[in-house]
Amino acid sequence: MVHVRPSLIELQSYVPGHKAPGAVVLASNECPFGLLPGVAARLGELTGGLSRYPDMGARRLLDALAARHGVSPDRIAVGAGSSEVCGQLLHTVAGPGGEVVFGWRSFEAYPILTTVAGGAVVQVPLRGHVQDLEAMAAAVTGRTRLVFVCNPNNPTSTSVGESALRAFVDRVPEHVLVVVDEAYHEYADPAAVPDALALFGDRPNVVVLRTFSKAYALAGLRVGYCVGAPGIIAQVRKTQTPFSVSGLAQEAAVAALQEHEEVARRVALTVGERDRVTHDLRALGYDPPPSQANFVWLPLGRDSAAFAGHCLGNGVIVRAFPGEGVRVTIGLPEENTAFLALAATWSTRL
Ligand code: PMP
Repeated sequence: MVHVRPSLIELQSYVPGHKAPGAVVLASNECPFGLLPGVAARLGELTGGLSRYPDMGARRLLDALAARHGVSPDRIAVGAGSSEVCGQLLHTVAGPGGEVVFGWRSFEAYPILTTVAGGAVVQVPLRGHVQDLEAMAAAVTGRTRLVFVCNPNNPTSTSVGESALRAFVDRVPEHVLVVVDEAYHEYADPAAVPDALALFGDRPNVVVLRTFSKAYALAGLRVGYCVGAPGIIAQVRKTQTPFSVSGLAQEAAVAALQEHEEVARRVALTVGERDRVTHDLRALGYDPPPSQANFVWLPLGRDSAAFAGHCLGNGVIVRAFPGEGVRVTIGLPEENTAFLALAATWSTRL
């Protein structure tokens, strides 16, 4: 028998959101509007180059991101989605036995990627659906290597504010890498949710994670990145799987960055719909916490799986975390209305 690491045998695999032909898919926090028009046009031009390897240094994309964020390109590392970049960050600092702290529940890839990197998972319970930064700081030990702060948090949709985040970063020792995962940053109210890049751009132990999968509507092409101090970024780049970001993905991301007006228009539509869905759910007797993301969280506890089953049986796919809650992505207005109608028929059971 081949020797397999015991920690992997016990590890639960990542569970992707379901897809089904003809169904309304509100299970993966994707953008419902399809490719940005400029991205679709650019992809059509590019297929001729696919027999060659892509630019491993992703130079055009790094330059475009550097211009967007007003930093030098040596502060940015890219990967095949921010999931790969999460793994890269863990491989850079965690290693065998290194402790990795994060709120729970949060992004389900954190424990998986930590374990794959050989690190030790330290989960700190949320408080009222929000990451408890004080308890997370208290969980940092001499063995801690990395802390994830998911802001806004997936799947509970809540955020932590500027003063709490500042106090947290001030408290974490400098040898520990703080990763602020801002996958849903574009959907958050800037008055309530800090931009960690603006706040901590000069800190050597803070890295900010962003993705093209959500507001930029590129989940299928796999591009994410992190921004941090050049010293740590140089090491993170070494951990990338060679050529993991395809040439199509790089060029699509460059084209997407040029469409910030269309992105902003779509984000505004999604935020308006999110607020409508939240309002209507509350009127029906549900209790979603205030969302700063492109999804809402229904803390239905032991009814979560049954609620998701009720939706699925009626052609709407939502994401259940059995025993905890249900995450519902904001889709097109008519999709959200279809979901709300199902939530209304279920609400008699609340
Ligand atoms: N971080 C968070 C908080 C997420 O919710 C997700 C996607 N579900 C990711 C990172 C990774 O997204 P991607 O790999 O598509 O960039």
